[in-house]
Formats: sequence, C-alpha cells, structure tokens
Amino acid sequence: VARLLFVFLDGVGLGASDPTRNPFALGWPGLTEVAGVDWTAAAWSEASQDQRVRRGLDARLGTPGIPQSATGQTTLLTGRNAVAVMGRHYGPWPGPTLRTLLAHGSLFSDARSSGGACLANAYPAAYRDALAAAQRPDLQRQRSSRRWRPSAPVVAALHAGLPLADVAALVAGEAVAADLHGAALLQRRGDAEPPSGAALGPEAQAEALLRLAQRHAFTFFDVWGTDRAGHAQDVESARGFVARLERFLLRLVGQLPADVTLVVTSDHGNLEDLSSPRHTLAPVPLLAIGPHAHAFGAARSLLDVAPAARRVIATP
Ligand SMILES: [Zn+2]
Repeated sequence: VARLLFVFLDGVGLGASDPTRNPFALGWPGLTEVAGVDWTAAAWSEASQDQRVRRGLDARLGTPGIPQSATGQTTLLTGRNAVAVMGRHYGPWPGPTLRTLLAHGSLFSDARSSGGACLANAYPAAYRDALAAAQRPDLQRQRSSRRWRPSAPVVAALHAGLPLADVAALVAGEAVAADLHGAALLQRRGDAEPPSGAALGPEAQAEALLRLAQRHAFTFFDVWGTDRAGHAQDVESARGFVARLERFLLRLVGQLPADVTLVVTSDHGNLEDLSSPRHTLAPVPLLAIGPHAHAFGAARSLLDVAPAARRVIATP
C-alpha cells in the first residue's frame, strides 16, 4: 500500500520577503531545509524532483472574492470546486450544501476501502459532546454555538465512519495536537500537569503522526493554529507558531518512512501577511516529499490536490 500523509496548514500563503509583515520571511533554516527554498513568494520556485515536488497553488478557484476555509478545505478533500457549487467563497464552517458535498465522498471515504483512513487530530471532550448534541434537535443551544461547529475535515471524517480521537488518545501518543505541542488540550481537560508518559512538543507530535501514517493509507492532520495566528495579527505569537512548525516538519521529514508520501499544503493565505487580519489572495505552497511525490508534480490549484492524492492512495 502507498501511504499518504496530508499535513494541512490552514491559512498559509506565499507572501512578501518583509519579516515585519510575514513571519515566514524571518529566515528559518529548518523550513528551508525541508522545502529546499525559503517559504516566501520570491524564493518558492516550482520544482519536480524524484522525491520532492514544490508547487504554488491558486486558491481563488476561479471566483472573485477572498478565499475561505469551508470552500477551500472541501475542495482539497473532494476534488470538487466547492466555490463553484456555492457560487461564492464560504467559511469558516461548512453549511448544508458543503456538508452534502463532503458526505458524498472525500479522501477519507476513498481511503477507507483501500488501506484505511485517519483524522489524526485530538479533540477536546467539549467539542465531541457539542457535535453529538448537534445531532439532537432538542438541544438548540449547543446547535447554535459557533465555537463548536464541525470543520470540513471533521464532517468528511465522520461521514466516512471514522472516530474523532480524544485527549486520552493524545496522551497515549495515538493522536496529535493541532497546536503542534499538546499542552493546551491537556489544560482544557483540567490537567494541572501533563500525565506521566505524555509526550508533548513538536517533535513528539511529529513522531505520533508518523506512527498513525504507517498504519493507514491516508492520514490527515488539520493544523488550524496557523490561520488563528494570522487572524490575531500578533507578530510574536505568529513567529512562535512558525518556530513550532519548523521543529515539527523537520522531525516529520527527517523520520519519514520509505513507504509514506508527505503532502503539505493550505486552503488560502492569511498568516503570511500580518498587516491584515483577513485571508489573502496569495498562492499557497504545496510541498510533496516521498516515493509518490511526483503525483503532485502538475498541481496548479486547490482542485488538483484531491485527484493527485487519490492516485497515491489507489497505488497498490
Ligand atoms: Zn481564517
């Protein structure tokens, strides 16, 4: 089985070389080592080597307006142009139309029948409870809670019959924290101190993710902290998140098993331009590393990611 590990970075575009606006322009030797070039628009050359492909993807999907997460992520997960279906960019959470599109088939449901699929994120109990309550019309208050609406990957994974991992799975090293560390999820659970044996930090998260990737044909990890940091426009915390991302990706690529192909991409720009709290029109980076990286060699837009991913997953 050819295995695909999809690391989804929410809201990461290729931006200016100005480090006061773009935290990626600060100079990150580890990120440069992983990609072969700096993660800025000026440096990011497209390349298609044997085991490493680098592309810049158009996130606008042929429709004017600022790209949004629900339509972008649905497109990445289905290969259908969700913006064309909706008539506009839409997000951050999928509504009925996009949920139907995701229920119809996604990379998760494809992979279930050929080697297994996994949504690697750990979710807090309150989130899992709110999703369960949303199925019940008598609990209107939870239903209207914006905070706990399911994201496109969660909708797709649930429709494919996959479980959502909890914080206990994170402690056991069988799920991964979206903050690339883990402490925030444990605090939310009420742990004053991490349970003994819980491996926290970017390197531990990378290693846990690699263990999941070796057990499934398709493993998806939703890193939404990048988009949150972009909206917050806090230069120091944005740089802190990029520093964690660097450590995480260095370990991930350094220990990538021979049968796992890694693809890293995004749904739209945001974090690369801290001068604005909004998403951007910037192209997003696509980086593929591993034995089937070449499947992504011709990708030009978000639309091209799912077909390439399907070719990898379907490889015997
Ligand atoms: Zn956003």
